[in-house]
Amino acid sequence: MGLRFASLGSGSKGNGTLVASGDQCLLVDCGFTIKQTERRMLRLGMSPADLTAILVTHEHSDHLSGVAPLARKYGLPIYLTPGTLRARDIGKLPQVHLIEGHQPFVVADIQVTPVAVPHDAREAAQYVFRSRGSSLGLLTDLGTVTPHVESHFAGCDALVLEANHDPQMLAQGPYPPSLKRRVGGAYGHLSNQQAAGFLQRVGYEQLQHLVVAHISEKNNSLELARSALAEMLESVENCIFACQQDGFDWLTVEARGY
Ligand SMILES: [Zn+2]
Ligand SMILES: [Zn+2]
Repeated sequence: MGLRFASLGSGSKGNGTLVASGDQCLLVDCGFTIKQTERRMLRLGMSPADLTAILVTHEHSDHLSGVAPLARKYGLPIYLTPGTLRARDIGKLPQVHLIEGHQPFVVADIQVTPVAVPHDAREAAQYVFRSRGSSLGLLTDLGTVTPHVESHFAGCDALVLEANHDPQMLAQGPYPPSLKRRVGGAYGHLSNQQAAGFLQRVGYEQLQHLVVAHISEKNNSLELARSALAEMLESVENCIFACQQDGFDWLTVEARGY
């Protein structure tokens, strides 16, 4: 069996993704309180005590707020970039591993490749995971898809991809003008159309799972995201939409046998 993954919740009110291989399990980001994290993990048949480590993508509170408290309570190592570590004072941590540049590293038996993304954070990294002949890309919280991003995320067997907003709903929505500019800008979040364009360019026929994630509750609707991604929904084996409350249940990436 290849990689397995699941989500504790996805969106601007909190994120957390589990990536597992064999009996090892990583938590990528934690934007929930300890209580919430325990409850959400229990729903997926896990406890934070089962985790091998926590990886952090960037310092925004929907990704970072729960990381340090959870790491302290359960004595978990944390992997993050120097920029993310310096961006906030998150207090004493049991064990910190700084990610060097864009160097792949190995945690348990999972190979992790950090990929720099344009986002309004100090040193944001998204990740590609490889284990036992299968690969999974997590790609949220970026305002632009760069050639660098495309080259790293092309060919993944499974993908969690941000489709944050519909530009028209964002423009007409409740956010103040400065926040609208931030979200829709080059260092903000991907729109439905940007997500679709990315998939068209890198290809999606090989995907076993496409999880549409970090969907804005205020500036997007499932209907609009579905229609922008209609082509992909038709041809990808399994296509689902992650939600803020429930995230999504465990999915397994089958090894391709290379
Ligand atoms: Zn976020
Ligand atoms: Zn962010």
